[in-house]
Amino acid sequence: MGESGMVREHPGRCRCIIIGGGPAGLAAALYFARFNCEALVISLEDQRARWIERTWNVPGYSEGIRGDELIARCREHALKYGATLIHGEVDEVTGRNNDFRVHLVDGRVFYGRHIVFATGVRDTPPNFPNAYKYLGRGLRHCPVCDGYEANGKRLAVFGTGDRVARRALFLSTFTDHVTILLNGEGSFHEIDPSLRESLENRGIPCLEPPVVSVMDEGTEIRGFLLQDGTRIEVDRAYSAQEIHPRSEVAAKMGVALDERGFIQVDAHCATNIEGVYAVGDVAGTGYAQIIIAMGQAAIAAIHIHGRFDAPG
Ligand SMILES: Cc1cc2nc3c(=O)[nH]c(=O)nc-3n(C[C@H](O)[C@H](O)[C@H](O)COP(=O)(O)OP(=O)(O)OC[C@H]3O[C@@H](n4cnc5c(N)ncnc54)[C@H](O)[C@@H]3O)c2cc1C
Repeated sequence: MGESGMVREHPGRCRCIIIGGGPAGLAAALYFARFNCEALVISLEDQRARWIERTWNVPGYSEGIRGDELIARCREHALKYGATLIHGEVDEVTGRNNDFRVHLVDGRVFYGRHIVFATGVRDTPPNFPNAYKYLGRGLRHCPVCDGYEANGKRLAVFGTGDRVARRALFLSTFTDHVTILLNGEGSFHEIDPSLRESLENRGIPCLEPPVVSVMDEGTEIRGFLLQDGTRIEVDRAYSAQEIHPRSEVAAKMGVALDERGFIQVDAHCATNIEGVYAVGDVAGTGYAQIIIAMGQAAIAAIHIHGRFDAPG
């Protein structure tokens, strides 16, 4: 961002400060900028969207688009209308509606009338050797996003309990070759009996031993060796591990979270604190998708702009 050469110094106080420069934050910035409002995006550069090798379900991109390219295009689009994008990590937000102060870990402080949290979530890969190497490639996180590309393929699904069972059943709508790997972290009997029955009916095996090694070709996964000597061949793996909302800064200022740590929002993406909004994955709709993140950003921006509740 700051290194792009296109960023102007921000004049200290602006209508809206957006924390997080992924699809959600950048879409919010575009909307604000096109309302002739000063919008400042403060972000680190580890967007979840960057893990996307190529997304196929963003309307208008029938040839798919790489996650990092989508981010670059969204940045360019917001900059074109005058949004300001800076690199930095937000530590704390203080103040109140129409007079918020955003404190960065490097000591900089920015003033804004409204705050939009677009801070996303963190993924935890399953616990098998070199799992990070395969993230977004042989190891997938989002069957809603790329289950279509798994049609007919041999799949392993990592996780435990009902969550892994549901993900495996969802994936079995694309292929008859799904195997659950509990990876030494759970047992088949912990799964709800009705889900166990569905797994059995669909012929989805559930293997409990830990993975000791991965067969691969570069970043693609070809199979797993389990501790009991079982070898399974796969074309790709999915993770059903929990995702972790990046809501620490919001929590510090008293924004209400749900029991999993996601920011609670109303239909306008407003939080319990006046003037504070949340959009994208961190807002915890349960639908972590780019078009939903962008849609929420549009809702929040339109709602904030429609308020005209203070001078300045
Ligand atoms: C492997 C993979 C593949 C996927 N494929 C698809 C797909 O094909 N289609 C689809 O629709 N979705 C896909 N998704 C989901 C998609 O990536 C997310 O829904 C989307 O990125 C959410 O956007 P966001 O802006 O909410 O969060 P993010 O993209 O994660 O951006 C959040 C930003 O906030 C910043 N941030 C957080 N805290 C702070 C702080 N304190 N200070 C400053 N900055 C901060 C982060 O650094 C980050 O840059 C995929 C996800 C993964 C992991």
